[in-house]
Amino acid sequence: MQPFALEQGRDIADTIRRGRMPGTDYIAGGTDLVQLLKDDVRRPRRLVDLEGLDLDQITVTPQGLRLGAMTRMSEVADHPAVIRDYPVISQALLASAAPQIRNLGTIGGNLLQRTRCTYFRDTASPCNKRSPGTGCAAIEGVHRTHAIFGGSRQCIATHASDLAVALVALDAVVHLSGPNGARDVRLTELHLMPNDHPDIETVLHPGELILAVSVPAGAWTRRSSYLKVRDRASFEFALTSAAVALDIQDGKIRAARVAAGGVGTKPWRLPAVEQALVGAPATTATWQRGGRLATAGAMPLRDNRFKVRLLRATVTRALEQVGGEA
Ligand SMILES: Cc1cc2nc3c(=O)[nH]c(=O)nc-3n(C[C@H](O)[C@H](O)[C@H](O)COP(=O)(O)OP(=O)(O)OC[C@H]3O[C@@H](n4cnc5c(N)ncnc54)[C@H](O)[C@@H]3O)c2cc1C
Ligand code: SF4
Repeated sequence: MQPFALEQGRDIADTIRRGRMPGTDYIAGGTDLVQLLKDDVRRPRRLVDLEGLDLDQITVTPQGLRLGAMTRMSEVADHPAVIRDYPVISQALLASAAPQIRNLGTIGGNLLQRTRCTYFRDTASPCNKRSPGTGCAAIEGVHRTHAIFGGSRQCIATHASDLAVALVALDAVVHLSGPNGARDVRLTELHLMPNDHPDIETVLHPGELILAVSVPAGAWTRRSSYLKVRDRASFEFALTSAAVALDIQDGKIRAARVAAGGVGTKPWRLPAVEQALVGAPATTATWQRGGRLATAGAMPLRDNRFKVRLLRATVTRALEQVGGEA
């Protein structure tokens, strides 16, 4: 591990002033970053600790839910209003990592966690994301867990966050503050597809800080769920997952929000599924049609073709769980 200085800002402005310096990373719970430091994947000269900033509130209003960036994953998962009004968020968090990690890991850090592609985390392997221009070991190598949506010749790594899938489905907005002031970004636009620059993963500018995430209230948030399929029942990343939220009245679907995880180079919203659901009856045939549409445009490779069938089944099952088996 490269030696680094550890600093703390007096307030948000001072934190950003420190965070904009070249060679600096922010550190929140440290559950992802510290491993990357130990493995020499990240080599910052300075860490700016976000602990102590006043960013750990959970606020519920009729307009929606606001989660401070430093709120712990476990606090959000266990919050009674989140469980009642936004169950997909609670379930996505409870399906993530392990209790000890959820007690430390934060909402901001979760959204910005790095991919679990094993070649990215092994400095002996070529990896365009870690060392631009060196190549992608996964494309010809072992890519069973990699993306079937959004990949390029440069990178096919999946985005690992379960929470991000739930928040993308619910039209969440990320509140940022940086050297050039404050701005809001829709979560669907926070993460970038790899294209020719897999090393550039988000639209964040140097030193920009996530302050909070907001989820607008909607008739669909209460009737929502997260289904995750993985190689073992806990402490494992998604092979496929689905976040589903439905507004159903008189047996008819009025609104639908659907996103998938474990399959995309970023949290993957499924607009074709949503469009097909709206106006349709809440029946088994509708859920099956939604599942079939979930894989339109998928580009699987040799080892991950199984994800196409698995994703169809995951989305169908998640829709059934939320909408009922009429
Ligand atoms: C064994 C293991 C299993 C896991 N399984 C899962 C899983 O199944 N599903 C899942 O979703 N996750 C999983 N995770 C990932 C875990 O959820 C993340 O490590 C955690 O959420 C990161 O939060 P943190 O606060 O510790 O972030 P840190 O490690 O402190 O930071 C992560 C990144 O975010 C940046 N950052 C943090 N906060 C901010 C901010 N407010 N503004 C700007 N930048 C910021 C940091 O600079 C760093 O680049 C697993 C992790 C481990 C170690
Ligand atoms: S898939 Fe992406 S992260 Fe994995 S080796 Fe290729 S370039 Fe690196």
